[in-house]
Amino acid sequence: MIINQKVLTTYVLNTTSISELNTNDSHDLSSGLNPLKPDLHCHTYCSDGDLSPQALIELAEQSGIDLLAITDHDTLDGYFEAKPFAESAAIQLVPAIEWSAVWGGMSVHVVGLNLDPNDSTLTEQLTNQRTARIERAREIGRKLAKVGIEDAYSGARNLAPMGQIGRPHFARYLLEKGYVKNYQEAFKKYLGAGKLGDVKTSWPQLEEVVAWTRQAGGVAVLAHPKHYKLTRSKLGRLIEAFAEAGGEAIELVTSPKMDSTDNPVKHFAQLYGLAVSVASDFHTPQNGWQHLGGLAKVPEPFVPVWQMMGEIKK
Ligand code: AMP
Ligand code: MN
Ligand code: MN
Ligand code: MN
Repeated sequence: MIINQKVLTTYVLNTTSISELNTNDSHDLSSGLNPLKPDLHCHTYCSDGDLSPQALIELAEQSGIDLLAITDHDTLDGYFEAKPFAESAAIQLVPAIEWSAVWGGMSVHVVGLNLDPNDSTLTEQLTNQRTARIERAREIGRKLAKVGIEDAYSGARNLAPMGQIGRPHFARYLLEKGYVKNYQEAFKKYLGAGKLGDVKTSWPQLEEVVAWTRQAGGVAVLAHPKHYKLTRSKLGRLIEAFAEAGGEAIELVTSPKMDSTDNPVKHFAQLYGLAVSVASDFHTPQNGWQHLGGLAKVPEPFVPVWQMMGEIKK
């Protein structure tokens, strides 16, 4: 609930941005507050990003971001580490996660926004995910050994000293050892969808991660729906299954300009009544085309996801 006068004033005028408020105020984003520059999907080195949580907050501050969600893969470590820096920078930091899951035999990602970071079920499931990641990484290592690539597991693990090991760390190892010419080739040859290193058997079902998100008081968002490279009808089935499971939003705004051509994500978001998130999926400053916070506005008539998040949890 809104308990302070400043936010009440904001509600009445509906013109104040989040960045004009004091970070110690409680913020109920459902009441008409509008971020000037939101980004609700990015990574730190606690998963497969390059920046430390502190450096990410510095970059967010320089970029004028006022509402940020660090969505590291299956861990809240980056969120907890970034929190004090976000407070000094007057950035509203949303406790968030990017879940790895499966649907119909393929890997899908679900972003959980504004979950209670201390929820016991959530903490338990994140421990399970961490174990699943290690087992899966060992399996990826075994599979790569079969095609003559030695020590990939320990090599990748050394490249992920801060936390969650994933395919990007294997990609860096393959590049470092000269098995591939560039990072992208590592996915194309060994790690991408359907390749030998695309091990996904240990992930929970889509429905489960949506349920855990909701149980922890969060909003479930279907991440980067275009990345799955699905036919229009299969994409429709995925979005329908997600909405039926209790998912409430989808990442529609993922670049500085909205695509004006026919966009099936828009169509299905409307059909299933989903709110819309804005999400760069930023991993590193070295990637020139993926900027933190470089995102278009939520198009009419969609509801921005922050209007469903309520007061930001701590
Ligand atoms: P994992 O969490 O181990 O399944 O790895 C997934 C991560 O790998 C994604 O979040 C991306 O950062 C990266 N990734 C997946 N597919 C590709 C690809 N084709 N090219 C580059 N990076 C990718
Ligand atoms: Mn990633
Ligand atoms: Mn993802
Ligand atoms: Mn991501």
